[in-house]
Amino acid sequence: MKWSWSIGEYAGIGVYIHATFLLLIAYVGISHIMGGDTVSGATGGILFVLALFACVLLHEFGHALAARRFGIKTRDITLLPIGGVARLERMPDDPRQELWVAVAGPLVNVAIAGVLFVWLFVSRALVPVQELTVAGGPFLERLLVVNVILVAFNMIPAFPMDGGRVVRALLAMRMEYTRATQIAANLGQGLAMLFGLVGLLSGQFMLLFIAFFVWIGAAQEASMVQMKSALGGIPVSRAMQTSFETVAPTDSLQKPVDLMLRGFQHDFPVLWGNELIGVLTRSDLIAGLTQRGPEATVQDVMRRDFSVADPLDMLESAFMRLQECQCHTLPVVRQGEVVGLLTSDNLGKFMMVQAALKARPSQAA
Ligand code: ZN
Repeated sequence: MKWSWSIGEYAGIGVYIHATFLLLIAYVGISHIMGGDTVSGATGGILFVLALFACVLLHEFGHALAARRFGIKTRDITLLPIGGVARLERMPDDPRQELWVAVAGPLVNVAIAGVLFVWLFVSRALVPVQELTVAGGPFLERLLVVNVILVAFNMIPAFPMDGGRVVRALLAMRMEYTRATQIAANLGQGLAMLFGLVGLLSGQFMLLFIAFFVWIGAAQEASMVQMKSALGGIPVSRAMQTSFETVAPTDSLQKPVDLMLRGFQHDFPVLWGNELIGVLTRSDLIAGLTQRGPEATVQDVMRRDFSVADPLDMLESAFMRLQECQCHTLPVVRQGEVVGLLTSDNLGKFMMVQAALKARPSQAA
């Protein structure tokens, strides 16, 4: 993610913190001081926010480590002021696995809350919840309450919350995946409308904000799944681009620059003779021009680590691979020879044609 800084790697997963997160810390500090609080009061406020986000981070690791058990990698985890995001390479297809990945995050917060409760109970430090305020009361007890809130918030049964995935997974055990997603998405949008309405009537800005996120998240998930199901059972060869340019590893960067300006191609297969040895993406080309100039050769900046598709692969799995590699183009290779390119633009155009044909009134006599 742009504007993010690495704060280390744990269990092989890079953890990043978004720049706006520092704004939140500054905001908390300044609002304490402006409210007439002492410096130590402000420090306490900041420490509380940091502790809260440590709990959010552990929550995301809950998802990531559960996904790892099913062989799914996590690209990275980023902390934003509104929470954490663990970018899994994909979601498991098996609903039972998705259920585990989804509940693993909130379970971490349940565990933290449980440990804090036992500790506070044993040390007789519990005070009645009514006596707690945002900044007042024992630090650990406020942290306990916040973890309970995190669980409740994340289990709201709507995408993009964990609760939405739980609902979808439970439905998908009984019905077809696309239908389960549609129902879960409708439920999410219904809830979003309810939150929005309550937010408007009560003037609670936060609820409006949540309503907005839930609405978008539900719509995205539904369209993603529809796309996947529309692509099922169709081979890559039906949608791939068959007229394309290639470059050689020894070409200077000027050649792909000319090709890119002249045509529409984003990324270029790099061929050594007939053999595909790399992919030159537009972003690598541009970065290479900045760092090494137009005289550098293609092999200096190309990717040697890339995914390919077979013309007989199904579009659905090729689409998932495009998502996983976060690349724009998959070279399509048959018997060692590049026979086409599958790009996300292609897939979009193919979907448009499919939809147009479907919408056509039936021609049967
Ligand atoms: Zn979560």
